[in-house]
Amino acid sequence: MPAQTTHDQLPGPAEKVRIRPALEALPAYVPGKPAADDGTRRFKASSNESPFPPVDAVRDAAVTALAGSNRYPDMAALDLREALGAQHGVDPSQIAVSTGSVAVSGDLVRAVVGEGDEVVYAWRSFEAYPILVGSHGGVSVQVPLTDTFEHDLEAMAAAITERTRLIVLCTPNNPTGPSLSTEQIEEFLDRVPEDVVVAIDEAYREFHDPATVVGTAGIFRRHGNVVLLRTFSKLQGLAGLRIGYAVAHPRLARALSQVTVPFGSSLPAQVAALASLRGEVQEELAERAEWIRDERSRVTAALAEQGWQLPVSQGNFVFFPVGEGSGAFAAFADERGLVLRAYGNDGVRATIAEQQANDLLIEIAGAWRRR
Ligand SMILES: *Cc1c(COP(=O)(O)O)cnc(C)c1O
Repeated sequence: MPAQTTHDQLPGPAEKVRIRPALEALPAYVPGKPAADDGTRRFKASSNESPFPPVDAVRDAAVTALAGSNRYPDMAALDLREALGAQHGVDPSQIAVSTGSVAVSGDLVRAVVGEGDEVVYAWRSFEAYPILVGSHGGVSVQVPLTDTFEHDLEAMAAAITERTRLIVLCTPNNPTGPSLSTEQIEEFLDRVPEDVVVAIDEAYREFHDPATVVGTAGIFRRHGNVVLLRTFSKLQGLAGLRIGYAVAHPRLARALSQVTVPFGSSLPAQVAALASLRGEVQEELAERAEWIRDERSRVTAALAEQGWQLPVSQGNFVFFPVGEGSGAFAAFADERGLVLRAYGNDGVRATIAEQQANDLLIEIAGAWRRR
């Protein structure tokens, strides 16, 4: 019988390979903490996931598709791209699909950002941005948010240089919550050279108040340098399946298809995304979005009552600007059964999750203020 060994016990050979020095300077992506499994009821409100499992019809479609997993998926994801193209009023060739919109953003960086080129984005914003930019040899130009935790578009326009190749606007902004208006983005675009790509990351679009949501479809039609990023990970509840896409103009779309990993999105993911676009599923998803918005209103009203002044959130999350107290506040919530996400000394983000989790959030936020 061979001796029982584990990888931990093996000494391992000396490792002398050269890793690109740029990678040493990069922060590691910190995923939202899982809810600990220690017997007490805990809620995970740390990754902006949907508290709802996938819609039944979507899950069934993905499960059925698993039976064909001995075959490679359609590399071009044509059925899905045709449906998305119809939805967005563009040719299917203008839809770029990959394993989540983070992957599509990575493709975007690889398509347009060369060694030493600059990428401008707000900070704080989505923590994947610095990693995607830095790991592909680009230079991040982070423009601080305003004191109301919104994009400072004036400062972002001023940060554009000869080296700028890409600008990312995140609306609603993760992790702080405020969104941009159509007018704000149009005015901003007037100040951006036409050869600089402007990506609008709309991961949380569906949670926005529909009456005031930014008109990105029109913005896209008017500007040849705009690309829209969308995901199935949030409202659609498919975070674990990994699928997202970009709506791009033809030349950029072609470039994205050139750099993307072949066969990136899996067959069940493609099929599930496609099923999510069916009319009756869209209706159910719209009801879920409304439920989340109602819960967000309920939570923010209760927090305001307690004296909290939070940035106005249009996402499925709220942001507590507790500064140096961020780690302590997250730990305080953790001890009471709610897993939140702390961002250095900037603040703490809480996902609007199950009703019980939201009740607990209100309770914990109140207890924190009274402590
Ligand atoms: C969650 C999120 C995404 C989605 O990422 P996927 O790779 O599609 O799961 C994209 N952008 C932002 C800002 C997000 O918060």
